[in-house]
Amino acid sequence: MKTVDITYRYEQQDAEASRRPADSEAALRRLNDGNRAFAALLEDFSNQAGGIQRIISVDPSDLGLLSGGKELPKQRPFAAIVGCSDARVPIELIFNEGPNDLFIIRVAGNSLGTEVLGSLRFAVEHLSDNLKLIVVLGHSGCGALTSAVDVFLNPTDYLSLAGKHSLRYVLDALLIVVQACAKKINAVFGPDILHHPAYRRALIEASIVTHAALAAYSIRQELQNRPTELQIAYGVYLLETRQVWTPYANETNGSGLMAAPHNAAEFVELGDAILRSERIASLIKTKG
Ligand SMILES: [Zn+2]
Repeated sequence: MKTVDITYRYEQQDAEASRRPADSEAALRRLNDGNRAFAALLEDFSNQAGGIQRIISVDPSDLGLLSGGKELPKQRPFAAIVGCSDARVPIELIFNEGPNDLFIIRVAGNSLGTEVLGSLRFAVEHLSDNLKLIVVLGHSGCGALTSAVDVFLNPTDYLSLAGKHSLRYVLDALLIVVQACAKKINAVFGPDILHHPAYRRALIEASIVTHAALAAYSIRQELQNRPTELQIAYGVYLLETRQVWTPYANETNGSGLMAAPHNAAEFVELGDAILRSERIASLIKTKG
């Protein structure tokens, strides 16, 4: 079995090395490249021998290491990421980033509560010197979406939440997405799909992507006064491959973070792309 060392190396950097992405395109590229490098690092982990080392270069001034404690480091993330609290999705790690690179907000189900939107608004208003991108990151097998799908498929389960307002609050926001995805799956595959053994799993995974896309779209609507160069993207981190996946038209495999949909027509396109994607289609084909 091989070993993989991921090392944060604090070393004084020149201005060029510590420069942040110049625009949202560069920020998106950096995150996608970082995730691909992270996923590739762990490929065939159990099948190969030897050691692999990945060094993530960190500017010591980002943690105030060179100021002798006299000055606070300046906060300068180039991307804000709304992700799930799920412990299997460590966001800096999966994008190959270090301290002070990402402004991260994590809540179960990566939904947009008031505190999440308030945190994003703070980042947009106070960190705009470097902030070029906002990302909503869902992940495969998300427990929050799984619970929402189970309640949708068996509404009597909702009764067990009667005394748990905080859990209902998390689930209620997800049910409309699950309902929309169920309608789409039904329209594409026909009513017999309800009896397919993989229907529940397909509904969960379709809902996870759609929920991330809807959250990203909602952020764009909520933050209309943001600087024009600040873009909004979304994607789904796959626990299976450690890669970020986003299905889109004419690309059944999907890959990397994508810009949030702009309108209803693009959501319809997204729905088609999700159901044509190999991930979802293979579930339906293989009869669970
Ligand atoms: Zn989750």
